[in-house]
Amino acid sequence: MEVDVNRCLTRIDDDMSVEAIAPFNCIFCKIVSNSAPASIAYEDDFSLAFLDLRQLSPGHTLLIPQKHVADVRDLDEETGRHFMAALSKVTRAVSAAFPSQGISVLHST
Ligand SMILES: [Zn+2]
Repeated sequence: MEVDVNRCLTRIDDDMSVEAIAPFNCIFCKIVSNSAPASIAYEDDFSLAFLDLRQLSPGHTLLIPQKHVADVRDLDEETGRHFMAALSKVTRAVSAAFPSQGISVLHST
């Protein structure tokens, strides 16, 4: 399947605000919209998890909300609840696939 990572950039109008344009320049939004490739590990209506290309540790997985937010401070309560439930599911799955002494959960923007 050919992936056009610039597909969504064609929808930007000159009068769009910075906030409105952000999702079009966001690699995570491109992954959510299938405009960029990713190895999807988990997906529900609110969240998407995929393997990080760098694999800093075995099973290194990124969990992102389905809708664009600048960081965790922008999550609404409903999305936040579902996101934490997804985090729990993903961490258990990663631990089952890659047994370890512990797990690190980091937030990054
Ligand atoms: Zn985004």
